[in-house]
Amino acid sequence: MGAPQPGKSIPLVSRNAGQVTTVVSVADVRFGDRKVVLIGGPCAVESRQQMAKTAAQVVSAGGAMLRGGAWKPRTNPYDFQGLGPEGLDLLVEASQASGLPFVTEVLDPRDVEKVAAAADMLQIGSRSIQNFPLLREVGASGKPVLLKRGMMTTITEWLSSAEYVLAAGGKELVFCERGIRTFDSTLRNTLDVGSVAVLQEITHFPVIVDPSHAAGDQRFVTALARAAVAAGADGLLVETHCTPDLALSDGSQSLDPAQFAALAESCRAVAKAVGRDL
Ligand code: PEP
Ligand code: MN
Repeated sequence: MGAPQPGKSIPLVSRNAGQVTTVVSVADVRFGDRKVVLIGGPCAVESRQQMAKTAAQVVSAGGAMLRGGAWKPRTNPYDFQGLGPEGLDLLVEASQASGLPFVTEVLDPRDVEKVAAAADMLQIGSRSIQNFPLLREVGASGKPVLLKRGMMTTITEWLSSAEYVLAAGGKELVFCERGIRTFDSTLRNTLDVGSVAVLQEITHFPVIVDPSHAAGDQRFVTALARAAVAAGADGLLVETHCTPDLALSDGSQSLDPAQFAALAESCRAVAKAVGRDL
C-alpha cells in the first residue's frame, strides 16, 4: 500500500517534481499562500437577518470568506432542503454588505450556471464527489472549486474526482478534508489529518479542512481545527450560526459568535507556530 504516487493517470492534479503550490485566488482571498484562510458561515442559509448577523461576526473574528448552503443535501427528504435561489440571493447580499466573497454548494448540474453567475467559489459536497456529470459541469464553469472529500472515498478516488474537474476545464481547485466514516462513530466522522500531508505531497493544489462536519459536535471543533492548522492546512471551513440552537441544520456542530472568535484566536497562535498567519 503506502501513499499513492502522482502519475500519468492524474496528470493535471499531480505535483511534478519541484513544482510549487498553485495559489488559488477567490476575489482577494489566496489559498495556498502564507495566510491560512478562515471561511465561516452557517450550514444552511435561512434568512436575511441570519446571514447579515453571521457575516458580520465572521468579519469581526478575522474570517476571510463566507459560506452557506442554499441547496442542502439532506439524508431525509422531509428535512429542510435549503431556500434554493432565494438563498443564493441572500448570500450575494450578505457578501456585498460584508465584503466577504462566498462559497456555496451546487448539488444539481442544472443549477451550475445560475450558481456560478452569483458565487465566488463552487462547493462540491461530500455526497456528490463521484457525481461525474456534476464534476464536469462545475469544471467547465471556470469558477474556483472547493472539492470536499467523500465520507467514504479514498484519497486516490478524491484525486481522481479532482482530475474530472480539471479535465473539463477547471483551473482553480481547493481540496477540503471533512472527515471519513470509520469503525468509530463516537464523533460524526473521523478527521483524517494525514490526508492533508499526503495531498500536499501529491497535488499542487491547496488543501483546507472542515472540522465541523468531522466533529459533528461544537465541543470538539476547535481542537480539530487546531490540529488541521498544525498539519499544514491552507484554510479552515467552519460552521457558525448567530443562534446555533435555532439552526435548521447542523446546529449541534455550529459555533456561536464567541466560540467562532475563540477558534480564530486559538488557530492564529497555531498558525504562527508553524510559520503561517491567520
Ligand atoms: C456542508 O458543507 O454543509 C456539507 C453538507 O458538507 P459535506 O458535504 O462535507 O457533508
Ligand atoms: Mn452542514
